[in-house]
Amino acid sequence: MSDHNSASEVVIVGGGIYGTSLAYQLAKAGRSVTLLEAGEIAGGASGGPGERGVRASGRDLRELPVCALAQQLWAEYQARIEGGVGYRRVGGLKIYDVSYGHREHEVRGRMEATAMVQASLGTPSEVLSRDEALAREPELAPGILGAIWCPHDGVGDHSFATRQFAKEAAKAGAVIRTGAKVAEIVQTRGAVTAVKLASGETVPVGSRLVVVANAGAEALLKPVLKPHELGPVWNLMPQMHFVSNPLNRTINHLLSHAHRRLAVKQLPDGTIMLSGGAHVGYTPEGLWKGSLSSMTQNVTDGLLTMPFIDNSSLLSVDASRVEAVAADQIPLIGQAEALPNLIYGYGWSGHGFAISLGFTRLFSEWIATGEKPEALEPFSPLRFHKPAEMLKAAALGRAAA
Ligand SMILES: Cc1cc2nc3c(=O)[nH]c(=O)nc-3n(C[C@H](O)[C@H](O)[C@H](O)COP(=O)(O)OP(=O)(O)OC[C@H]3O[C@@H](n4cnc5c(N)ncnc54)[C@H](O)[C@@H]3O)c2cc1C
Repeated sequence: MSDHNSASEVVIVGGGIYGTSLAYQLAKAGRSVTLLEAGEIAGGASGGPGERGVRASGRDLRELPVCALAQQLWAEYQARIEGGVGYRRVGGLKIYDVSYGHREHEVRGRMEATAMVQASLGTPSEVLSRDEALAREPELAPGILGAIWCPHDGVGDHSFATRQFAKEAAKAGAVIRTGAKVAEIVQTRGAVTAVKLASGETVPVGSRLVVVANAGAEALLKPVLKPHELGPVWNLMPQMHFVSNPLNRTINHLLSHAHRRLAVKQLPDGTIMLSGGAHVGYTPEGLWKGSLSSMTQNVTDGLLTMPFIDNSSLLSVDASRVEAVAADQIPLIGQAEALPNLIYGYGWSGHGFAISLGFTRLFSEWIATGEKPEALEPFSPLRFHKPAEMLKAAALGRAAA
């Protein structure tokens, strides 16, 4: 492509699940789209081995309505797209134990309240007794108190899904470019008009630029956002462990735990995947070999929850994918104040896969109508600055009185 190509209406930066599913939805709606990816499709957090949890259970309550929408779309696209999107609705169980220093009635109260609020925010959730939970998942440690059952939770082959959306977007007319690293956002008279690639090429932007570049987003946005539009984010590498299943036991659901940092799932080939534990710090060189302390914690939590795993052997550890995390663990989604045709979303905080389709559906609506959907409001980076404004206003109020 050269500097003289006509502009696509929407240019998307980032070829992970966000960029590809957005490109797909926009192209299907008849918009001209170019997606620019620095490396390869699914080369970031949306790629790599295993499966991701497509979980609403236990999420920050502000994310639940969008996650309910996402789970509906996962099921729809799984059925509608040829070859599916690697989604399996296996249901989720969040296990509860009475941990040291707590009382049973307290934990039961928490289970009931959590299930009730999740259900009212769009995630069907039911409290199961110990026996009901063990009937669903017989390999659980027998001393558990119970579980919250979420039938809409499931798992997804993230690499496959991301590539499927890229393929389907291209079929619908989107231009998908790999090896196209964006180095700079070019602006003219208060609007983004182009992006400059690291190669020196300029790619024109028709009406919208969408930056969904995860760990690469902040560097790109910093020069064009005002300081109060930047949220507190950092990058880390979640760690996953793959262990064998010599006893050929079955794990039926996506499992998580109320006070252990744990996600357990069984892959289609029978391998057991343990994740959700301590992350590995990010360095520019990466720490893909993993960390022993993080591994010990994650495997111990796995054994306490599913004792049969003690018969397994460690097959591999992977901590090769970088993810941007926000200080309050929910993403940063906004529109640049100085450049209203630039919208961005990043900081998915280690659980952005499940909810991706909900957010990209809302992004498509935003692009179609020009109006930011209300459901995106809780994710504005301005949330980090509101308390300071409130205190300022309160001080003025006192002075006036
Ligand atoms: C090990 C691990 C386990 C996880 N487990 C779960 C889970 O169980 N459930 C869940 O919901 N979520 C999970 N997540 C989080 C989830 O995978 C991510 O939130 C999600 O994939 C982020 O998608 P993305 O498209 O924003 O980012 P990415 O997939 O990282 O894509 C961003 C892309 O932008 C590109 N890019 C960056 N800078 C530039 C630039 N300047 N120009 C052009 N391209 C650029 C990158 O090369 C990259 O391909 C996990 C993440 C990891 C790493």
